[in-house]
Formats: sequence, C-alpha cells, structure tokens
Amino acid sequence: PSCSWKMALSRGLRCCQRVLSWVPVIVIAMVVLWSYYAYVFELCLFTLTNAAEKVVYLIAFHVTFVLFVWTYGKSIFTRPLNPHKKYSISYRDKKRYDNEERPEAQKHILAEMAKNLPVYTRTASKAVRFCDRCQLIKPDRCHHCSVCDVCVLKMDHHCPWVNNCVGFSNYKYFLLFLTYSLFYCLYIAATVFQYFIKFWTGELPNSRAKFHVLFLLFVAFMFFVSLLFLFGYHCWLVSKNRSTLAEAFSAPIFQHGPDKNGFNLGFFENMKQVFGEDKKYWLLPVFTSPSLGDGHFYPMKSVGESRNLLLANEEQWGEDGSDEDSPGTSNKGLPVRRNT
Ligand SMILES: [Zn+2]
Ligand SMILES: [Zn+2]
Repeated sequence: PSCSWKMALSRGLRCCQRVLSWVPVIVIAMVVLWSYYAYVFELCLFTLTNAAEKVVYLIAFHVTFVLFVWTYGKSIFTRPLNPHKKYSISYRDKKRYDNEERPEAQKHILAEMAKNLPVYTRTASKAVRFCDRCQLIKPDRCHHCSVCDVCVLKMDHHCPWVNNCVGFSNYKYFLLFLTYSLFYCLYIAATVFQYFIKFWTGELPNSRAKFHVLFLLFVAFMFFVSLLFLFGYHCWLVSKNRSTLAEAFSAPIFQHGPDKNGFNLGFFENMKQVFGEDKKYWLLPVFTSPSLGDGHFYPMKSVGESRNLLLANEEQWGEDGSDEDSPGTSNKGLPVRRNT
C-alpha cells in the first residue's frame, strides 16, 4: 500500500512538472498578445492620425507578426524525432550485454549490434554510443534529453521557452523563430521610437497610450538585446555545422579521433543541411530537410570520395533493411563495415 502511495505521489509530481513547464511559453504568449494590443490599438488606431501611415504600419506589423507567431508555433509543436526502431536492441542482446562484466567484451557486443547501422561516432573510450535508458544504439549526433526522457535525433538543446527539444525536426523553425522575433522587436522599436519621443516632450497629450508605447519600446529593446546573443551564437553554429550539445561543448569522436569539424562541409553545404536544398524555402518555416536524410546519418567532412558510396548504402539500408554489405567500402579514417 505504501508503494502505491509513493507511485501516485511521483505521478502527481510528474504531472505538476509537465504543467509548470508550460509557464515560460504562457508568459511569452501573454507578452506577445499584449504587444499586439498595444501596437495595433493603442499606437496605430488611437494615436496615429495620418491615415496612410496607419495603413502602412498596420500591414507591415501584421506581416512580421504572422511570421513570428508561425515560427514560434512550429518550434513549440513540432515533436522531436526519436531514433528508428532498427536502433533498438533486442532483449536477448541486452541480457548478453548486462551479463558481461568486462568492459572490452561489452564494447565488442555493442560493436556487433551496431555493425549494420550507419553509426560512425564513438564514446571517449571508443565504444559504440549506447543509451541505457532507451535501450538503443545512438545514431550519430543523437542525444538523450533528460527533460523529455527520450533520445532525440541531432539534439541541439532542450529549450524551456518553447517547452520542446530543439533537434533535427525543428532546428530550422527554431532558427527562423529567433530571426523573426529579432525582426519583430526591431520593427516595433523602430516605429515606436518617434512616438515615444513625442509623448516624452509633451507633443502628444498624456494618455493611456503613453504608457503602452513606453513599455513597448522598453520590452522590444530588452528582448532584442538578449535574443541577439543567442542568434549570433546559433549563426556561428550553423556556419560550422555544429549543434550546441553534440559538437560545440565537446568534439564528436570518430574512429580516427575527436574532430570538432567532423560534420563541417563548408558554409553553403552547412546551410543546406539545416535550411534545405531549395533556397526559396530557406526563410519559410516549412520542412525541407527530408532531401538531406532522415536525421540518422550525416555526411562527414573526412569521407571524401566514399561519401556517395555510403549514401548509396544508407538508401539501401533504408529500403529493405537487410543491408547486404558490399565489400570494399573501406577508406581512410572511416570505419570499415565488416561482413558477417
Ligand atoms: Zn535515450
Ligand atoms: Zn527535451
């Protein structure tokens, strides 16, 4: 009985936690709704007198607002992707792994389980990366999120402001959200500033709008400055094709050793890896990455001429699952896939 009581308590706590994790999102949503009211009603409709100015301000504001809210929504509600079930290990393998105490032998078992999977990064001790919690072989750039309690493909970080994991499925949306929120703040600050001055110098009468306009400028400026740092950091990460967790904090380890630039393919290719092949969709929050893979495998810098061969293997692996390995895939700095 005491056990079930404890279980109910822990379930209650987890439920509480889940509800509380929405607080930052709700706070942001309320600030955004207020900013909409303050800009559209207090500034444009109640303060502005010039009709042409009113129309231009309102149209430009709504375009920015829609892009901002659209990318924010996509960042929040796009679920992170988890590894394919091919990466899960069988009960029999797990038993074998658990019963083995020698680390070298455990390493060998993991390597055997991963032999048909396109995983090229290793742990510091050169073992195949394995998630004990999810019972799976971790694909390259995949990490376990302790908040979501699942493995997330190309996990960047868990973001409380979108209450979601930022990773392969929504990294583009997250970056566009940063871009458009900066744009939104900048637009508000730039258009509100002259009215702020007018209220301040007494050119416009004291009214409720004065306080809305004053706060609008203050909040826009505050968010702009704090977002700018995050945005700058992520621009740098994208240009180097790194993710916050996997490659910026500690270099990924390949068979030939750790390499921070292991996935760095050059600026333009790196951009395509995140924003998609087609440049006309780069600034729109629509999913464009499938052409670049399913999040399990990433082209590597050192692969050179064998890259196409590996991609061909990857396709084959994706289609029939049997993965008949072709001999002769060995290459410098690359793990050789063994034939059974
Ligand atoms: Zn996991
Ligand atoms: Zn998470």
